[in-house]
Amino acid sequence: MSRRPLVLPIAALVLALAGCASTGVAPPVAPAAPPVAAVPAHDNLNATLWLQRSSEAHAVQRQTWRSAERLLDAALADPAWDALAPQDRVAPADGRPAAVIVDVDETVLDNSRYQARLILDGGRFADPTWNAWVDEGRATAVAGAPAFARAAAARGVTMIYLTNREHGKSVVTRANLEAVGFPPVGEAQFLGLGMDTPGCVPKGSDKGCRRQWVAQRYRVLMQFGDQLGDFVSIPDNSPAARDALLGGFDAWVGQRWFVLPNPTYGSWEPALYGNDRSLSDEAQRAAKRAQLQR
Ligand SMILES: [Mg+2]
Repeated sequence: MSRRPLVLPIAALVLALAGCASTGVAPPVAPAAPPVAAVPAHDNLNATLWLQRSSEAHAVQRQTWRSAERLLDAALADPAWDALAPQDRVAPADGRPAAVIVDVDETVLDNSRYQARLILDGGRFADPTWNAWVDEGRATAVAGAPAFARAAAARGVTMIYLTNREHGKSVVTRANLEAVGFPPVGEAQFLGLGMDTPGCVPKGSDKGCRRQWVAQRYRVLMQFGDQLGDFVSIPDNSPAARDALLGGFDAWVGQRWFVLPNPTYGSWEPALYGNDRSLSDEAQRAAKRAQLQR
C-alpha cells in the first residue's frame, strides 16, 4: 500500500497558520467526527458473510460440484465404485441402482439468511426459530448443486437427500429444493431425522441407520456434505479423533466424498469445547481461544 507524502500538506498547513498569525484570524477548527453507534459483536459475523457475500465461497462450491460431475460417468461405469464406509455397506452394492447421497443444509441449500437473522437479532440457534425458517422455504441453492442434480438425473442416478431436518419437513424442503432449480424430488428421496429405519436404532441425530437403509437399496456413487458426520458416524467428536477418522478415507476425498465449506456451524465447533453445549457463549469462546495454535 502506498502512502501519500506528508511534505506538501504540512508545508501548506504551516503557511496557513503563518497567514492566520499575521492576520490575527483564528485557524479553522475541524468538525468533530460524528459518533459511531456501538456495533454488537457476534462470533459468526465473518463466517456468515464469507458464505453469503464472498465470491470465493461460491467458487469453492461450484468447484466441488463440477469436480464431482466430471467423475460421474467413471463412477457409473465401475461396478466396484461405492462411497459407503464398510460399517454402512450392510448389503452388497453389486447390481443395485446407482444413487448419490447428499446432505441438505449448507450442502445443497444455503441457510445463511437464517444465520444473518441470528446475528442481527442477537440470537442463538434454537429449534423453534430454525423450524420456522425451514417452513418459510426461502433457502437459496448452494452454487453448483442444482446443475449437478440435473446431471445426475440425466444419467438416471437417484439423489438421496439425507438430512437432519425433521422427517416431517419433507414436503416444505422438497418444494424449496424444486423452487431453486433442483429436479423434482420424490418423497422416497427425502430421509429426514426420525424416519423409520427397521432393524437399526439411531443414536440421536447420527445418520448411520439411514445410510444403511440406502445401502440396502442402492450402490452409492458419491456422498456430499458439510460435516464429517454426513459421510460416516463419528464415535469420538474430538478434533484429533475426527482427523484420524477422516484419514482412514483420505483416498475418497474429492473422489467419492465431496465436502462443502461451512465455517458457520457444525460438529467441528463443539468438538473444540468438549461438546458441552450448555456452556455460555463466553465459556465456549474461552475454550475455543485456548485451541488456537500459534
Ligand atoms: Mg449440513
